[in-house]
Parts: sequence; C-alpha cells; structure tokens
Amino acid sequence: MSFRSALKKVLLGNVHIQSRLEYKSAWLRGYMALICISVAIAYTVIDKINGVRTNFPFYWIVVLMGGLVIWLNRTRRYQLSSVIFLVTINFIIFLFASSDPYRTGIYIFFIASSLSAFALFGYRQIKLAVFFSCVSLLLFILSYGFEWRLLPVMDYSEKYITINFITNFIVALITSMLIVYFLINTNFRSEAALTRTTDELQKSRERNQMVLDAVDAGTYEFEPSTQAILVSDNWKKLLGYRADELEQIQLETYFENLHPADKATVEQNIARHLRDRKPYVTELRLRTKQGEYKWFLDCGSTRFDEKGAPTLTAGCIIDINERKKAEEKILHQNEQLEKANGELDRFVYSVSHDLRAPLSSILGLTNLYNLSSEGKERESIISLIKERALTLDSFISEILDYSRNARTELNTVPTNLNSLVHDILKGLTYVPGFERVRIDTDIPEALELRTDRARLKMVLNNLISNAIKYSDKQRESFVVIQATVNGSECDLSVRDNGIGIKPEHHARIFDMFYQAHDKAHGSGLGLYIVKETLQRLKGRITFQSEYGKGSTFTIHVPLKLEA
Ligand code: ADP
Repeated sequence: MSFRSALKKVLLGNVHIQSRLEYKSAWLRGYMALICISVAIAYTVIDKINGVRTNFPFYWIVVLMGGLVIWLNRTRRYQLSSVIFLVTINFIIFLFASSDPYRTGIYIFFIASSLSAFALFGYRQIKLAVFFSCVSLLLFILSYGFEWRLLPVMDYSEKYITINFITNFIVALITSMLIVYFLINTNFRSEAALTRTTDELQKSRERNQMVLDAVDAGTYEFEPSTQAILVSDNWKKLLGYRADELEQIQLETYFENLHPADKATVEQNIARHLRDRKPYVTELRLRTKQGEYKWFLDCGSTRFDEKGAPTLTAGCIIDINERKKAEEKILHQNEQLEKANGELDRFVYSVSHDLRAPLSSILGLTNLYNLSSEGKERESIISLIKERALTLDSFISEILDYSRNARTELNTVPTNLNSLVHDILKGLTYVPGFERVRIDTDIPEALELRTDRARLKMVLNNLISNAIKYSDKQRESFVVIQATVNGSECDLSVRDNGIGIKPEHHARIFDMFYQAHDKAHGSGLGLYIVKETLQRLKGRITFQSEYGKGSTFTIHVPLKLEA
C-alpha cells in the first residue's frame, strides 16, 4: 500500500465519495487536522525543552480535536467536523493571542483560520464561511485591542519568543499555501471539467442535428406556461415559411392550421400522452403558408415536474405527404380491386348461367326438330332457335361492351348526335317488337358533342333497346328521344310508354345482372354497363318510371369531354 493510500485510509476512511469537490475538501480537512496535531506535538516538545508547562492542556485539546475531526471526516459528517475544527482553533488561537506577547506572531493563525473557513465550507455554504471569518476577525480585534487575558502572562525568554515566531510563521504559511493550493486546484479542475462537458455537449448537439437533417425533421418546443410553440428553421421550411418568419406560434394558431378532420385524433393523442406519459406519434395534416394541407408525422415527448405538471414538450414533424398520397392511391386501387373481384364472381356465375340457358334451349329445340316431320312446325322451331341464338349473341356483345369500356382508352371525336341516333336505330331493327314501336326523335340538327363516340353509342343503344324491349304490348307503343343543351352539358332523354318499373326495384336497376322483370327479356347487364361507361364519359344518368305507365332515362354528358 502506497503512503498516499495509507494516508487516505486514515483521513478519509474506506468510503467512496462521488463529488469531486467533497472529496477534495475531505482531504483538506484531514490535512489541517493533521497539521494541528503536529503543531500541538511540536509545541509540547518546544515547551518541554524551554521548561514551559502551563500550555500542555491546550495542546492536548488541539490533539483531541484533531482526532475528533478526522473521525468525523471518516464517517462523512463533514459539516459537523468543519464546525468543530473552526470553533476549536479559533478558541485556541484567541487563547494564546490574548496572553502571548505580540512578537510570537500567533495572530497570523487568524488569517489561516479565516482562509480555511472559506475552503472548508465553499461557495455553497458561503454564509457559514463568512460567519467564521468574521469570528476570526472579531477574536483578533478582541485579543489585541483589549487587555483581556485568559491565561496568566508568562515571562518568556527572547529565545523562546523567536522560536515561537518562526514556528508560527512557518505553520501559518504552509497552512495558507495548502488552502490556496486547494482552491486554485479545485478551480482548475472545475474549469477543465466544464470545457470537457461543453465540448461533449457541442458534439452531441452536432450528432443530433445530423440525425434530424438526415430525416429532414422540423423540431419544435412547446412551453405549457406560455402556450407558445417555438419552431426551428426546418419546421418553417417544411410548412413553406422563410427562416425569418414566424419565430413562435401560439397553440391556438397551431390548432387553427390543423386539418379539421385531424383535430379529434390530435386531441385524443395529446390526452393519452399526458395521462400515460409515453411519447406520442400522430399522423396529421397542417396547412402550409400557401394554404394547402400537407401530411406530417408528428412525434414528441413531455417533461413533467415533481407535482406531475407538464413543463416542456419537445418534438418534431417529418414530411410524409408523398407516402400518404401513395397510400391513398393503394387504398383506392384496393377498393377498385375488391369491387372488380365481387363483380367477377357474380359475372362468372351469371355468365355461365345465361350462356347455358339459351344453349340448352337450342339443344332441346334441335331434338324437337328431329322428331317433327311437319313443315310448319319445323319452321317455327327454326325461328325459336334463331331467337335463342340472337339472345346469346346480344349477351356476348354486352360482355364485349363491358370489357371494351373497362380496358380501352378514351377516344374523343366530334360527334353529331342526330346521325349517331340514326345509326343506332338502324342497328336495332332485329330487337323483337321493333316494328310495333313508333320512334320519334327531337334532336337539334347541328348538335355536336366532343366525346367518345363509341361509348356514347353503347350507352344510347342500351337505353333505346330497353325502351323497345320493355314496351307494353297491350297498347300502341312509342319511344321519344330528345336532346337539349344545358350549360356545358347535353341532356339526352329516352322516354317510353312501356311497362314501367315497380318502385321497389328503382334503387337496384343499375346493379350488375339485376333484372326487374321476367328473365326472358335480357341479362341485367345493360344498365350496369351504361352507368360504368357514363363514369368514363364524365356524365351521369337519372330516371323516372311509373309501373304500368312508362319510363324516362336521361343522361347528362359534357358537351366537350377532355380526353
Ligand atoms: P336487361 O338486360 O335485363 O334489360 P338492364 O340492365 O338493361 O338489363 O336493365 C335492368 C332492368 O331494368 C331490366 O331487367 C328491366 O327490368 C328494367 N328496365 C330497364 N329499362 C327499362 C324500361 N325502359 N322500362 C321498363 N323496365 C326497364
């Protein structure tokens, strides 16, 4: 064991002192106690040699006090040991100073005791330090300003006085040097530690900034006491502001700039965060300086005081606009996909059913044809077979229409409505009952649309053929096709006096494969295709129908369709 560690064991004991300042003052206190003990022993020897015996009890008091201070120091009762030390040495110095001749220089110890008060109590207990310094000063004045003598005046020899002076001077000087050394050493170490901490702080700040730059985060701090949010330059940049704008914003303004649809979520998240004290993460929309909303990921945490009140919230926002847009697109595509899947299921079921029905009917009719020998009967069987084949053909062509609408791009061309309707009517002559229905058109001759001609033809073809198919055989039937211009739109209606549709079917007639009448008439695909096609033409359809009286289907399409 080295001398220093042995000394440490004696003066400080086996305890581990965490605070550097406390550790150093424990050393100082130990040293000073040791110096006092040594001085007392030295004086005992000097006095013995010089035949002076009266001071021995005071030297022993000093030795005892030194031992007590060391013991208290070892047991970490630092303040008590400092107080005992200062009280005792001030008392002893005063005792000798009041009775010894000036020339022994004993009063120099008042300087050392005053300095030690500052060193032992430090700046944290400056009041105690000042108090003990004042005590030293007061005792000095009392001992030299007044003729008080606590000890009998001794008649010391000149030699004894000189030895005393030299001893006192050297001991006071060494003690003062030790104290000053302690103070400048402590100061130096504190300064070095401060520089180290400042350097580390700077480095850590730089590292944090690098991470924030990497994720392009805009930081902010919210102080509950002022309700103000202090925002960083990057926060401002993300919201379209310049660095010299908007130093801080009030919480109220922040909420005003929050998307109304996100307010409830943000409020809920804040309440949960303050309750659970776990960091919050919220996806929200904030209004930028330009007035549009942008998506951000907002995360942060709060510091609370010992009473549980929030004192500071620090957080950051990250731009997630692109990601959210992509997410919305995927969501939309998913919806489309789900819709397409549902349609596909119903499609496969109905198509197989509707394709097989006329086919089995044709097969049955061919058997009948083989069995029959009569010419007239055979003729009617052939016409029935033809009718079934036509149904099959129209069904297949509807499926093709559907597929064409879904897969092909828009092809907008100038379209004369009159000639388009006449084209359609020419192609509808095969529809059963066509010859019985009077068809009137009321379309301005020059009315021309810029639209996808093939798609508009498909829509009108379906509506007009329905008006013919669902005509009332009990009376004289008519269909009126009318077109008018309404602002930037063209309203095109197909009115019939047919069998009409019962009100309970109105809500569903545009559904895929939905049929409001007897199956024999069609497949239930027509109006569904009409609705889908009109969506691509940026148009819409409305209808009115009274059961037993007739129906009017009106489509509204833009006069000029942008491709
Ligand atoms: P379908 O191939 O059965 O005609 P649509 O989708 O074209 O299928 O029509 C759906 C249903 O709406 C039809 O089954 C029919 O009951 C009813 N409907 C359509 N147009 C008319 C109309 N002009 N008059 C009476 N009912 C109609």
